[in-house]
Amino acid sequence: AKSRGRNNVQVFRPAMLAATTERARTAAELRTALQNAELELVYQPIIALATGEAIGVEALVRWNHPTRGVVMPGAFIPIAEEMGLIVDLGRSVLEQAIAQMRAWMDEAPQLPAFTVHVNLSATELRRPGLDRDIRTCLDAHGVDPSRLVLEITETVLMTRGSEEARVLRRLRRLGIQLQIDDFGTGYSSISYLRDLPAQTVKVDQSLISTIDSDAAQAQFVEAVLHLITSAGLSAVVEGVETARQAELLRRMDCAYAQGYFFSRPVAPDRVLGLLAGFPAA
Ligand code: C2E
Ligand code: CA
Ligand code: CA
Ligand code: CA
Repeated sequence: AKSRGRNNVQVFRPAMLAATTERARTAAELRTALQNAELELVYQPIIALATGEAIGVEALVRWNHPTRGVVMPGAFIPIAEEMGLIVDLGRSVLEQAIAQMRAWMDEAPQLPAFTVHVNLSATELRRPGLDRDIRTCLDAHGVDPSRLVLEITETVLMTRGSEEARVLRRLRRLGIQLQIDDFGTGYSSISYLRDLPAQTVKVDQSLISTIDSDAAQAQFVEAVLHLITSAGLSAVVEGVETARQAELLRRMDCAYAQGYFFSRPVAPDRVLGLLAGFPAA
């Protein structure tokens, strides 16, 4: 065991150094990327299961890197968090999503109102002036606050009476909708569900990926959905990949769903066609 321990140190250390260097390089490049507008958004529709209609789209960031190609958020969001770039990144994402909503509204005024969902990191929620900035941006583009849904992971909300909770209430008062993201992945306490300033809860993909093969898991998900609705919130399920999952969820009276089964995230110029097309698939 002793020699193995020593080997671990020898083998692991260069790898760690490489990872650190790589992170620093990514952070430096990310700063440039923010200036050069290399960060772009793709959008994935959210479907009302009862009607099959798309009621909104979630903005998901992509880094269009000059040499590495398209970099997924999992590879740079954590680095942006760590290196203090997440606030600038978040600002750019919000600005793009709201400007894009304006463009869609102008292009398709006949389309029923739909929402754009934006993911907000915990760090952004702690930033002073966040609510004022969002309001200014909505006003500048003439987009009603009800068109914006902010997705926040549940861990942020665990501390009652926190500064985050106050910011959320201010956002709520502006008329912005709030959604709990990744529900079921943290150590959620069910009692906090009732006090949330949120309107909707997004049940994490990991809970539903096996519902079409595992009856016990399906029952569990049904119970979770009931819990959410009993708290006066509505449920969205993410990561729906099969027709059978969609059908099961519809029978469970799940309100909304999102996933590759309905559509992958798409470029902004494809969104209006998709929205008009549902329920076509
Ligand atoms: P998330 O908010 O939970 O987003 C859902 C992720 O699942 C997205 O990955 C989406 O492309 C993917 N997905 C959607 N449908 C399916 C499906 O049916 N099956 C599977 N396997 N995956 C599906 P993506 O775009 O790579 O984003 C990963 C995470 O990065 C997001 O998870 C979110 O936490 C973060 N993120 C993305 N964009 C932003 C952003 O603009 N700001 C912040 N702060 N975080 C972001
Ligand atoms: Ca999300
Ligand atoms: Ca999620
Ligand atoms: Ca997730």
